[in-house]
Amino acid sequence: MTAGCAGGRLTIDLGALQDNWRTLAALAPGSECAAVVKADAYGVGLPEAVQALTRAGARTFFVAHLSEAAIARAAAPDSAIYVLNGLPPGACAAYAAVGARPVLGSTEEIAEWAGFVAATGAAESAAIHFDTGMTRLGLSPEEARALFAAGGPGFRPSLLMSHLACADEPDRPETERQRALFAELRALAPDVPASLANSAGNLLGKTAGGDLGFDLRRPGVSLYGSNPLRARSAELKPVVRLEARVIQLRQAPEGTPVGYGGVERTRRPTKLAILSVGYADGVFRAAGGADGAPGACAYVGDICCPYIGRISMDLIAIDVTDAPENTVKRGDWVEILGDHVGVDDLARASGTIGYEVLTALGRRHARRYV
Ligand SMILES: *Cc1c(COP(=O)(O)O)cnc(C)c1O
Repeated sequence: MTAGCAGGRLTIDLGALQDNWRTLAALAPGSECAAVVKADAYGVGLPEAVQALTRAGARTFFVAHLSEAAIARAAAPDSAIYVLNGLPPGACAAYAAVGARPVLGSTEEIAEWAGFVAATGAAESAAIHFDTGMTRLGLSPEEARALFAAGGPGFRPSLLMSHLACADEPDRPETERQRALFAELRALAPDVPASLANSAGNLLGKTAGGDLGFDLRRPGVSLYGSNPLRARSAELKPVVRLEARVIQLRQAPEGTPVGYGGVERTRRPTKLAILSVGYADGVFRAAGGADGAPGACAYVGDICCPYIGRISMDLIAIDVTDAPENTVKRGDWVEILGDHVGVDDLARASGTIGYEVLTALGRRHARRYV
């Protein structure tokens, strides 16, 4: 869709994505840096992200589903592609056809994959997932020890992995407990590469007990410019820029209710701009304003123009009174996300996390890759 027809304009900066990958890779040079590109690469576009990251040097990708692996495979013919959500029953041949590696997280999945490898003689690779405290996917420590005590899975895994539950909060003691348990479990097959760190683990680097990097790191959200460690800044660049078109300007006297429910009133004679994006485009309704609770800001140049009143499905009202005369006109574009409003800023104003802002980015914007 061309920008002329759309209410929102989404610009994805693939150079910033590549720079972020290089920055994150450099945090632990002895450990490979993979890229997590599930959920359409956190909303920025799976094939485009995989191609750009491959050019930057990434050789290992993680997706959630086999359908995503097929798209990633077309974009990266020579890379290792892991499927985090594991192996649905009867899907071994489909994985082999794509050259995708399931992350096996239960004894049933491991038995099915071992049966497939034995029956076909296929040399297909797979990862084994240990649960070290997330209680989501993966073998329990007891199951893991029992598996290797009984001679191992019946094939050579290409990766042993686990996932951190609390690393975005650096003071939580669980991260060191997970690291120590994972170090013990990966020693069940010490010559198989091991992977523990997500974005937060990679940015944290280590706990009191040791490094979190192991052989392979798996950053996702930080590649796309969101920092899950609010306390710690890495030099991450914004990857997404979202602009909304001004479709109407209007003047309202002090005390005028704006939008559904009239939950916010103008506090002065106010110049309003009506923007042509809304919550159906991924700008969460919770980011709107109510009397006593200011909304998020859109930017006209360097001027913060607060959302006023509730966000509608397709529209947002902003207060442009402070923008200099003639800087906002019908048809202009204003910044919703970009250099002034980071993904994490909009997330905070919406009571959510950067992950949700990114993966909710609407499908009806005009998209442009630079
Ligand atoms: C999503 C995911 C990641 C990436 O997490 P981020 O916090 O986005 O870096 C890594 N590993 C697993 C198992 C995941 O599900």
